Amino acid sequence: MNATHYIDGRRAPSEGHATIDVIDPSDGQKFGEIARGTAADVDAAVRAARRAIGDNFDGPWGAKTALERGRLLAKLGAAVMEHHEELAQLEARDTGKALRVARNDATALARYMEYYAGACDKLHGDTLPYERGYTVLTVRNPHGVTGHIVPWNYPMQIAGRSVGAALAAGNACVVKPAEDASLSLLRLAEIATEVGFPAGALNVVTGYGKEAGAALCAHPGIDHISFTGSTMTGRSVGLAAAERHCPVTLELGGKSPQIVFADADLDAAEPVLVNAIIQNAGQTCSAGSRVLVEQSIYEEVVQRLAKRFAAVKAGTPAEDLDMGPLINEKQFRQVRDMVATAEASGLKVAARGTVSPNASATGYYQEAVLFRDVPHDSDLAQREVFGPVLAVMPFKDEAEAVRLANGTDFGLVAGVWTRDGARQLRMAHKLHCGQVFVNNYGAAGGVELPFGGVKSSGFGREKGFEALLGFTTLKTIAIKHG
Ligand code: ADP
Repeated sequence: MNATHYIDGRRAPSEGHATIDVIDPSDGQKFGEIARGTAADVDAAVRAARRAIGDNFDGPWGAKTALERGRLLAKLGAAVMEHHEELAQLEARDTGKALRVARNDATALARYMEYYAGACDKLHGDTLPYERGYTVLTVRNPHGVTGHIVPWNYPMQIAGRSVGAALAAGNACVVKPAEDASLSLLRLAEIATEVGFPAGALNVVTGYGKEAGAALCAHPGIDHISFTGSTMTGRSVGLAAAERHCPVTLELGGKSPQIVFADADLDAAEPVLVNAIIQNAGQTCSAGSRVLVEQSIYEEVVQRLAKRFAAVKAGTPAEDLDMGPLINEKQFRQVRDMVATAEASGLKVAARGTVSPNASATGYYQEAVLFRDVPHDSDLAQREVFGPVLAVMPFKDEAEAVRLANGTDFGLVAGVWTRDGARQLRMAHKLHCGQVFVNNYGAAGGVELPFGGVKSSGFGREKGFEALLGFTTLKTIAIKHG
């Protein structure tokens, strides 16, 4: 594999020819290299994107009509499905995720392209009532060149949702994948060229966050930044964007609660409560990492969850068990440390899953861990673990459930389990977050559903039609004609 970026419609080596090792999380061994991008590489990509748009929207990409953009996105979605297994295998190797999850990611990537393909020519402005003798219009324009900083947990899904919407709105994109998971997005850019996207419409610059990522945020030619990643890095990206008044969308961490009332359908809730934290080995920003249970059914729910947790197996991506390994050594140590610290502080483990005997001893396998009676003010209830670790705690009434659920720095997603219709609505309105699921839990929900946070979970919305609006600027045109 050549260590290259994807700039201006072709694979391009890094200006400095430096590389970063690609490590297989299932055994900790190197299996390839990616280019270690520099500010010069980012600059080349931004220039290519600008040329694709043209100075006056007269470049090969900028001149495309909404219909033409939609047709190209539809072709890209279909091509992703043709390359589905190849992309899924690449993603599973690169990130360690179970093959089933990687396949789902590839399907979601195609679905984003399909959704935004159909949305391109439905994006329009308005005419507004104003004083007599005026006609007032609003028009929606693309920002221009958009920067997309992507994390390693769901590269295809997260790039798909933001690049799909940005391209649909007529922007040209520069993507900086995570240094731990770049391979699928390099391939995606190549496929985009194969189906007819003009050179420069979709560029990928690989490299470290502090180098290529920071250079992208600081580049004066980037007109909008979408960032998905950790809360701390999101703050740096937000500050860098503020330095030059660049609009930014931040999708950050979460400590999302699932709230189980005594009248809930526990048979329906139980598998969803477990899956929401073990999916992708807990490395999901919208993971349901806290379960709040009404006191009268607390013991029953803990017993049910413990039984399921004991059966959760981590294994190699090819074994396709409940979970794969964690992404890298740093993450592995961090999760293990948080579990050890919680145990040392006296928190009770109700159950642990297992690791497959076929898993390599040098891989980053973390078994699922269920903690019970977790105090609301403990680290485990307040901080994001980003691993398969669930904190369960009781509540006595609806008011306390709301207080606990809203009582963290985060506000991304919440789940409510109850058969009481009025309570479903009361809770949905009182929960301070970006998405509420009632009697289900979407772990970021569908392609069509706007997604994003409040508080330290970020701002701006990805997904759905709402995201498309975020990738435009609105211009008001007031004409006085008498
Ligand atoms: P993690 O710490 O789990 O790797 P990050 O939030 O740091 O998660 O990474 C998400 C993405 O942000 C990655 O693509 C990473 O390279 C990038 N990144 C990290 N630091 C910066 C930074 N200072 N500026 C821009 N991008 C960054």
